[in-house]
Amino acid sequence: MKSSRRKFLQTTLKATALTTLGTPVILHAATDNLAEKVSAKPAFQFAQVSLPYAFNALEPHVDALTMDIHYNKHHTAYIKNVNESITLENINYSSEKDFFANTSKLSLKARNNGGGAWNHNFFWQVMRPNAGGTPSGKVLEAITASFGSFEKFKEQFSQAGITRFGSGWAWLVTDGKALKIGSTPNQDNPLMDISELKGKPILALDVWEHAYYLKYQNKRADYITSWWNIVNWDEVARQLS
Ligand code: MN
Repeated sequence: MKSSRRKFLQTTLKATALTTLGTPVILHAATDNLAEKVSAKPAFQFAQVSLPYAFNALEPHVDALTMDIHYNKHHTAYIKNVNESITLENINYSSEKDFFANTSKLSLKARNNGGGAWNHNFFWQVMRPNAGGTPSGKVLEAITASFGSFEKFKEQFSQAGITRFGSGWAWLVTDGKALKIGSTPNQDNPLMDISELKGKPILALDVWEHAYYLKYQNKRADYITSWWNIVNWDEVARQLS
C-alpha cells in the first residue's frame, strides 16, 4: 500500500509538473516488456544441415560455385532470417510441422524464410554424386502405381519444374495412399496450410534461377534433364517409409 501510494504521488507530481509547463499529459497503462519477450527462448529454431558432400561433388550437373553460393549464401540467409523472425515475432510453435501447419498466421518474412530453410535442408539430402538412374523396390512400385511408369513420372515431374512460372519448387509428395506431383511458388512447400499441393514431400527440385543460372543461364529444362543424374533414390525411399 505504502509503495503504491508513493508511486501514485510520484506520477501525480510528474503529471502536475508537466501540466504546469503547459504540456498535455496522457498517462499510459504499463506496456508489455518488449525486452523480456525478445529474450524469451523460442520453442525451436531451424538449423542448417551439413552439406552431405563437397561443393564440387555434383559436377558436372551442378557446378561447385553454384553449390557454394546456394548453400553458404542463400540457404544460410533463410536460416538466419527465419530464426530472427521466430525470436522477434515471438513465434512459439513446438516443431517445424506445427510451424508450417500454421503458415497462414505467419508474417511473410517467417513464411518465406521458414520455407527456404526447410526446403533446402530437404533438397541437399535428395541429391548425391553418382546417383540417378531408375529407382527400385517400393519407390518404383509406388511410382508405377501412381503414374503408370517411371518414364511417365519423370516427364510429369520435369514438366512441373519447367512450367513453374518464376521462382519455386517441383515436388513429389505422398498423401499416405498415392503419390502426387506438383509445384509451389517462391519458398512455399506442401507442408504449409496455405499450399494448394499438400502431402509429405519425398522428392524436391529447386527451380529458382539461383539453383542453375551460372551454368545453364535461361535453360531451365537442360538443368532439369541433367539433375536426374544426381537424384538420391535411397533417400527418397527413406522419406517414403
Ligand atoms: Mn534455392
